[in-house]
Amino acid sequence: MSAGATTGVAEGQGLVKLTAKDFKGKVDPDWCPGCGDFGVLRSLQAVCAEMGLRPHEVITISGIGCSSNFPGFFNAYGMHTLHGRALAVATGVQMANHELTVVCTGGDGDGYGIGGNHFVHIARRNVNLTYLVMNNQIYGLTTGQVSPTSCDGMKTKSTPYGSVEMPVNPITSAIMNGATFVARAFSGDPKHMQSLIRQGIEHKGFALVDIFSPCVTFNHDNDYGFFKERVKRLEDEGHDPSDWKAACEKGLLWGDTIYTGLFFRKLAPSLDQLEPVLESGGPMAHRPLGITKEQSDRILKRMM
Ligand code: SF4
Repeated sequence: MSAGATTGVAEGQGLVKLTAKDFKGKVDPDWCPGCGDFGVLRSLQAVCAEMGLRPHEVITISGIGCSSNFPGFFNAYGMHTLHGRALAVATGVQMANHELTVVCTGGDGDGYGIGGNHFVHIARRNVNLTYLVMNNQIYGLTTGQVSPTSCDGMKTKSTPYGSVEMPVNPITSAIMNGATFVARAFSGDPKHMQSLIRQGIEHKGFALVDIFSPCVTFNHDNDYGFFKERVKRLEDEGHDPSDWKAACEKGLLWGDTIYTGLFFRKLAPSLDQLEPVLESGGPMAHRPLGITKEQSDRILKRMM
C-alpha cells in the first residue's frame, strides 16, 4: 500500500488545492485504447480533487480483472486483492479506519459473479463505501467469455451459440438486498458519471455506481453506440429516488430505453455508525494495540 507518492505537495500544508493529476498513479493504465475504464479512472481522479480529498485520505480496493488493475493507476492507498473478494477486504478496511474514504473498483465478473455473495452482504450491512463496477458485460482479461451481466443470447468465446442464461440485474439486486444508494452511469457521459460518483462518496452507507464501461476489444454488441442510442438520464424524467417501486421498475427496463442516474437513495445508519466499539475512541487503526512490540512482531511473524 502506498499513498501520496506523486503529489509533490507537502503533507500538512492543507492549503494547496490538489488537481485530478495529483491522483494519477506512477504507472500508466495498460488498458486497450478506447476502453471505458479510462473514463472511470479520470472521473474518480477529478472527483477526489473536486472534493478536496488528499491521497492519504482515500483507498481504492479491487479484485481481479482488467478494471481491477485500477488501484495501480490511482495515487492513493490501494489494495489489489483476490478475485471477487474486494468487498470483503474493504469491509475490514472500513471498520478498521472509518475515517478513510473507501472506494472499491472492479468489473461485473469479479463483483457480480465470483464476488456475488459479498455483494449481497455488503448491501444489507450498509458498509460505508462506494463501489464502482465497470460493467462491460464480458470477461475481458481472459479474452471474452460470457459474464454475469452478458445479455441473453450473446455470442462469446464460451457461448458460441449464444448465452442461454438470464443476466444479473445489478440495480434491482442491490435495491432488493437493502443498498441505500443505487446508481448507474455511462462512461461515455463523463460529467454525469462524475456527479454520481461524487454523490456516492458523499452518501453515508453502501453506494453502488454500476457503470457501463464498454470493452471495445471483446464485446461488440454493447459498445458506445449501443448505449448512446438508448441511455436516458433519470434526472431528466423527474424520477424520485426515494420511490422504491419506481426505482425497481426503471431498473428493470432494458430495451430502447436504458436509464442511468440515481435510482434509489435512503438514509439509514451505516455499519460503522451502529457498531458500539466505534462509538468513541476514534478509528481502531489509530488506537493503541495494548500489547508490546515484541508480542505484535511475534504475531505478525506467525501470520506471514
Ligand atoms: Fe478494456 Fe476490454 Fe481491453 Fe480489458 S480487454 S482493457 S475491458 S477493452
